[in-house]
Amino acid sequence: MEFNTLAIHAIPNGPLGEVVPAIHLATTYGQPANEEFTDFVYQRGNNPTRNNAEKVVAALEGGRHGFVFGSGMAATAAVLSLLTSGQHVIASASVYGGTYRFLTNELPRRNQHYTFVNDLNTLTDADFRDTTRIVFIETPTNPTLEVADIRAIADKAHAHGALVVVDNTFLTPYLQNPLDLGADIVVHSATKFLGGHGDLLAGVVITNDDGLAEEIAFAQNTLGAGLSPSDCYRLIQGVKTLALRIERQEENTRALIDFLRARPEVAKIYYAGSKSEAEAEIQARQARGIGAVVSIELVEQADVERFLSALEIFTFAVSLGGVESLVCRSYTMTHESFSPEDAAEAGITPRLLRLAIGVEGVEDLKADLDRALRASVSGGGA
Ligand SMILES: *Cc1c(COP(=O)(O)O)cnc(C)c1O
Repeated sequence: MEFNTLAIHAIPNGPLGEVVPAIHLATTYGQPANEEFTDFVYQRGNNPTRNNAEKVVAALEGGRHGFVFGSGMAATAAVLSLLTSGQHVIASASVYGGTYRFLTNELPRRNQHYTFVNDLNTLTDADFRDTTRIVFIETPTNPTLEVADIRAIADKAHAHGALVVVDNTFLTPYLQNPLDLGADIVVHSATKFLGGHGDLLAGVVITNDDGLAEEIAFAQNTLGAGLSPSDCYRLIQGVKTLALRIERQEENTRALIDFLRARPEVAKIYYAGSKSEAEAEIQARQARGIGAVVSIELVEQADVERFLSALEIFTFAVSLGGVESLVCRSYTMTHESFSPEDAAEAGITPRLLRLAIGVEGVEDLKADLDRALRASVSGGGA
């Protein structure tokens, strides 16, 4: 089935013919007899609504096993719980701030190790240790939208016996399918595009490997971070319009990139593939679009505060992927846990603003940015 058909029909109609699946809220289920259990015993382990959500996200990502969690970080934490004492992770230097916090704070407490690599495309044998278990990729990266070649990295990682985990939040399964490119595990913050309406905190893990699936299921039940049935329902409803939303968001994004390119107040513009021809080529080869996140660095004379306060449609807020356009300042918001050196290394300056483009009318978005850009260099209040 095509993507849109799966998004609507991966979960069949219910027993009453209902086109929207029922929400099963029960925490416990009556069992037929001593030592005879049904499929459903206790909600933390298994739940019909959660199974439906897991089925649809796995189908969209082209994976056999899906798991949904209470947040993207809970999903990432469950995947990193695959590590045993002494094992090592390689990650891109500009991973999501929460992932950075997990790697730098949580791994050392568990006698586990990490290395950040500035550009995973330059990964060499020397970066691997005997203990390297996971290479953690984000592509494009947040907030500078650098692109990593998933297949090339997967080949190197597999040659060293390491697993490849891809955080596919920014492109979603509609635009990129890492499992087809050699990744072993895909994670998503479903809080972003998959949910899409700014009202759901959720995470997803998908894999084709039966053994890894068993370990993730164990982590989901043991850590107790599975997504609640009502939120599973919201996720199921959200993904039905994923493709429609992304198509509109990407169309808006491309128009805004053209608009921003011509602006003297913008010193730099970042989007997936903008860094170099080589990255543009990788992006075109492994994905079906650039997504709906762009970052801009304002010129030195521009005042970031004035820019932000002149915006009327863009909301100054963290997060991305929803129907509403947002702007955030990574330096003080999403990447505040980065050390100043790591932030500089990742290109995250105080004048860098990340724009998450929504589905609004594009002329209104242009007018909003035009007003704010003018205000940023106007000297007076705007
Ligand atoms: C938001 C985000 C996360 C974390 O997800 P939560 O749902 O906020 O826990 C992880 N990775 C990326 C790329 C994100 O944007």
